[in-house]
Amino acid sequence: MTRHVPLDLDPEEFRRLGHRLVDAVGDLLGSMRDRKVTPGETPDVVRSELGAGRGLPPSGTDAGPLLDAATRLLADHSLFNGHPRFFGYITSSPAPIGVLAELLAAAVNPNVGAFLLSPVATEIERQTVRWIAELIGYPADSGGLLVTGGTMANVVGLLAARRARAGWDVRKEGLRAGPPMRVYASSECHTWLQKTADLFGLGSGSVRFLPTDRDLRLDVASLDAAIRADLRAGDVPLAVIASAGTVATGAIDPIREIAAVCRTHGAWLHVDGAYGALAAALPDAGDDLHALALADSVAVDPHKWLYAPLDAGCALVRNAAALPETFAYHPSYYQFDGDDAVNYYELGIENSRSFRALKVWLALQHAGRDGYVRMIGDDVALARALHEAVGRENDLEARTLGLSISTFRYAPPARRGPEHREALNALNAELLARLQRGGEAFVSNAVVDGDFVLRACIVNFRTTLADVEALPALVARLGREVDQG
Ligand SMILES: *Cc1c(COP(=O)(O)O)cnc(C)c1O
Repeated sequence: MTRHVPLDLDPEEFRRLGHRLVDAVGDLLGSMRDRKVTPGETPDVVRSELGAGRGLPPSGTDAGPLLDAATRLLADHSLFNGHPRFFGYITSSPAPIGVLAELLAAAVNPNVGAFLLSPVATEIERQTVRWIAELIGYPADSGGLLVTGGTMANVVGLLAARRARAGWDVRKEGLRAGPPMRVYASSECHTWLQKTADLFGLGSGSVRFLPTDRDLRLDVASLDAAIRADLRAGDVPLAVIASAGTVATGAIDPIREIAAVCRTHGAWLHVDGAYGALAAALPDAGDDLHALALADSVAVDPHKWLYAPLDAGCALVRNAAALPETFAYHPSYYQFDGDDAVNYYELGIENSRSFRALKVWLALQHAGRDGYVRMIGDDVALARALHEAVGRENDLEARTLGLSISTFRYAPPARRGPEHREALNALNAELLARLQRGGEAFVSNAVVDGDFVLRACIVNFRTTLADVEALPALVARLGREVDQG
């Protein structure tokens, strides 16, 4: 039989196309500063550029023209979170070595579900997880694994908590076999918590969203009171979620005090450090960041402050055995045991798993601890510089500064009173929309004390002082334009 294999490329052709693609990627990365952050096109425009409505091609096309067309399409119609003036949400510039790592990982294509299928990839993931724990000061003998992002890392932590804290066989009997379980977090906690409580049957109504102090940190007295009230009602305090860097303002909850409350009541302490845990590596990290070492589990996002290309999250648990106790089953068609092999399918939710460790592992070595401390520290310093520059702009009002997040709004001094709130909220929402479409710079938003504010988060090793200092004048100009109708 002669097989017809339109998908294969002979090695010569692969090299030729690969070199051309790498050249184009090099050009793209090199020209990013001269491009807009985003073309700001509507879905209609993008669909028409793509030819969204055309049917599946009945027969194939050569790889060369396809790759060229895809490169052009992506270069012309993308938002570049690697752009030096991208400050939205918490999405980093991808490390170039991570971009190359994705090519290598895909070429070998190990299935990192079992050691047998991915011998060196499994061990690279183990080393990567250990290095991340070391970088943030979490115990060296903790367990962990890489997942798709902060949301899934938090899910892993909360599921481990559920297994460990239920006084019955919750994996078999389910939640309905015991008293109601409660989870506690501040009202500033990221939306993964609602989604997760919903998905695993706890119900989002089981979460006690608690008040914060003036700095938007979880109020510990309210936490303690809420747990005591639930205990009196016969509920199980399952876990407390402390944020090490909230998504809106970068606030760090009082983790050391929260840990003491957890100890008193036997609740699991999970730290959502998706964004901020890596700041624990900084020489001036405060005591609450160091206290994340007390947590039963921690979520960290390498695709944020380790600058890994999407996607890469990391779940860490203090007691390494908690992961297999939470996730392992042994179907008859897997014969993976033996030696002391680590089989990641037993430690988390996914079964077949990609080699996302490679990009993180290479970047950790490319920059080293010192390199990361320097880059993260510079991001924090640039956010502070931005905040100060905002303060010097007459029509802007600087609001919060936490880790590398600065929030502010367009608010001429005479209109900062509560009677102007609604008008200013609408004005700033429109300002944000114009800024995002314009593509000169990109920020997102937050709501602080009921005020709609703009929010710049710097997790971007390409950003310079000139980039952040250009932002306030741009925002003030757009604000005046919107204001004048
Ligand atoms: C980003 C973030 C998340 C969600 O992480 P994803 O990687 O987007 O899934 C959760 N919590 C915090 C504090 C975050 O910053």
